[in-house]
Amino acid sequence: MSKSKSSESVKVVVRCRPMNEKEKAANFERVVSVDVKFGQVVVKNPRGTAHEHPKVFTFDSVYDSNSKQVELYDETFRPLVDSVLLGFNGTIFAYGQTGTGKTYTMEGVRNDPEKRGVIPNSFDHIFTHISRSQNQQYLVRASYLEIYQEEIRDLLSKDQARRLELKERPDTGVYVKDLSSFVTKSVKEIEHVMNVGNQNRSVGATNMNEHSSRSHAIFVITIECSELGLDGENHIRVGKLNLVDLAGSERQTKTGAQGERLKEATKINLSLSALGNVISALVDGRSTHIPYRDSKLTRLLQDSLGGNARTVMVANIGPASYNVEETLTTLRYSNRAKNIKNKPRINEDPKDALLREFQEEIARLKEQLEKRSVKRRRRKRRRRRPGENGDELDDGDEGEDEDDDDDGDGDEGPEEDEKEDADYWREQQEKLEKERKAIMEDHSLVAEEKLKLLREKEKKMDDLKREREAAEMLAAKVKAMESKLLVGGKNIVDHTNEQQKILEQKRHEIAEQKRREREMQQQMESRDEETLELKETYSSLQQEVDIKTKKLKKLFAKLQAVKSEIHDVQEEHIKERQELEQTQNELTRELKLKHLIIENFIPLEEKNKIMNRTFLDEENDHWKLRPITRIEDNQQMMTRPVSAVGYKRPLSQHARTAMTMRPDVRYRAENILLLELDLPTRTTKEYEEPVIAPKVAAALEDALRDEDEIQVDASSFHSSLPTPPGACVSTTKKPKSSRPKTGKKASTPTSATSPSSSGHPLYPQSRGLVPK
Ligand code: ADP
Ligand code: MG
Repeated sequence: MSKSKSSESVKVVVRCRPMNEKEKAANFERVVSVDVKFGQVVVKNPRGTAHEHPKVFTFDSVYDSNSKQVELYDETFRPLVDSVLLGFNGTIFAYGQTGTGKTYTMEGVRNDPEKRGVIPNSFDHIFTHISRSQNQQYLVRASYLEIYQEEIRDLLSKDQARRLELKERPDTGVYVKDLSSFVTKSVKEIEHVMNVGNQNRSVGATNMNEHSSRSHAIFVITIECSELGLDGENHIRVGKLNLVDLAGSERQTKTGAQGERLKEATKINLSLSALGNVISALVDGRSTHIPYRDSKLTRLLQDSLGGNARTVMVANIGPASYNVEETLTTLRYSNRAKNIKNKPRINEDPKDALLREFQEEIARLKEQLEKRSVKRRRRKRRRRRPGENGDELDDGDEGEDEDDDDDGDGDEGPEEDEKEDADYWREQQEKLEKERKAIMEDHSLVAEEKLKLLREKEKKMDDLKREREAAEMLAAKVKAMESKLLVGGKNIVDHTNEQQKILEQKRHEIAEQKRREREMQQQMESRDEETLELKETYSSLQQEVDIKTKKLKKLFAKLQAVKSEIHDVQEEHIKERQELEQTQNELTRELKLKHLIIENFIPLEEKNKIMNRTFLDEENDHWKLRPITRIEDNQQMMTRPVSAVGYKRPLSQHARTAMTMRPDVRYRAENILLLELDLPTRTTKEYEEPVIAPKVAAALEDALRDEDEIQVDASSFHSSLPTPPGACVSTTKKPKSSRPKTGKKASTPTSATSPSSSGHPLYPQSRGLVPK
């Protein structure tokens, strides 16, 4: 990489817009005056006393309300774009309060050529430069993105809801991942890209003015240029031009905002305040840490601030009195930025040059194409040879071996090649057609065979067609890719072009001269004061006193100016500090609330788990949660959560109590289906006793009465009174029998007490085995 060791400052210019109709109508006082010649902006205090000195700021160049867009471009931006064409990175910022002309400066009025801003003017400049170049190949790409509330949106992508991330690579630095970029071949194409982006920018916003004042838009043009170096190798230089329309610099009021609204307000200008901090840190020689990482904008434009890029900052201000505070803030801010030192250098042969990829791809495709045509030519030559022998119709075998050696491919010019190719295709087609016709007309062939042959020929024709199409496609692809690589020098003889070039050169010279004049004047001014004293000789004491008094007065005025400036800055700091304190208070309150919630409602164990999983993503400067994994040393997954011991899954305390209190399905951990036994219907009946008539029952009762219960009175037997047949008698009590009494048994004593056996014990006699 070639380096230019010298460092250069960020160039800061101020542009004051004219009073607008409203301001004129309201009769606002004009408090800003611009001295173009001296490069000074003078701001007087509208509420100040007559003695108060106005504040003076000096810049590289300043532009008043009459300034033309072209003037600005030629004097300030053209040199920067020129260096981008040489391979430097370049950035143009537009900074200022909303409504002061940032967008006017960057884009301008679209349909008015006089009022076109830097972006469209740079398109013309770039493509004109390319068309005039010689022996160089260019590739121009464009991207368009927006940063809103610290989110990056690709304005050229189809999916506008997607947010992009910033990534960093050690070799190429910070870049936006997946940012789309379009290769453009002309002013018209790149203008179209810009218009599409602008449309997308306004689509997402409900109020375009408010949205654009709160978001940063960055249009990026990457120009790659390849040139044959002295060493005979192609060298590629890549220049990147960032055209940045920043968000309005006015202070966002955070007072009274809470929660989401506060966060939003804090975020909106985060990038802008980070930009301020970066500038302060860069200018302050003692800072070792530059807080680039604090915002997306500063990270993305790191190179442009104290890096290897050339940078121009346009500070836009309004002239009216009611804007004076913001105007002063803007002027102080830009005054600081003047002191940033960059070390611009050319990016030579970077690894990720798209141009190189294109060149390699084209070479590869061309080689493929070449191979195809060589093959064809070879075949043709071979066919010509047998053709001479007169047996043309016979072979038909297209797939000849490729390993067939061929002497000399014939180094013909490309045009000849093309012509030959076309001839070849025609010849082949005609031949096949002829063959087909011959088959059709050949009556000696059997119909079936004819069909077969015809089919074969048709297939061959198809193949031929396909091959031709493939070759054509390849050629078209090469052409398309080549067309994207722009080469100049075509109209270099064009007379008007030549004249225009001279005109531009002259304009450029004039601008340069103006710049030098201004510089010299500024230098003279400061030197004047220094040398005045040395040169002077005084003729009398009185004269000396006079002159010195005058000088003293002058210096005193200066001192006062500085004092008041200090006072102002201090006051501003105090205000800013108060605001920051307020924001801090709000944030602390929120933090406390979150803490309270965590301490009281999140179990310690859970909290610890989450704490263990958190880590800082350095890349995005975000805290993130590691995914839960089953790693051995990670205890998290190895133990069951306390709430799940004894259950299949964790249960809350409430669910557990609810489960015991009422067995509601809702609180069960498992078996949530309640299933009762499904019992079959009964098929049997209960036993029912038969109904017996009371008379019978009594009889039965009687009959079944136990023998023991019967009182036998033997004496009565011996009396004259015959015993009733039911009252059987025995003298001795028989052992109680458990056997149910039967009628038969009952009858036995009856027979035993027969009158015939009186005097003897009334026992039945055994009959014995043998009849007596
Ligand atoms: P910003 O982008 O800073 O919010 P704009 O570029 O939208 O401001 O400008 C606000 C208005 O002022 C626009 O109507 C614009 O045409 C007008 N304006 C800004 N600067 C100039 C200028 N130098 N000359 C003429 N009109 C201007
Ligand atoms: Mg704007």
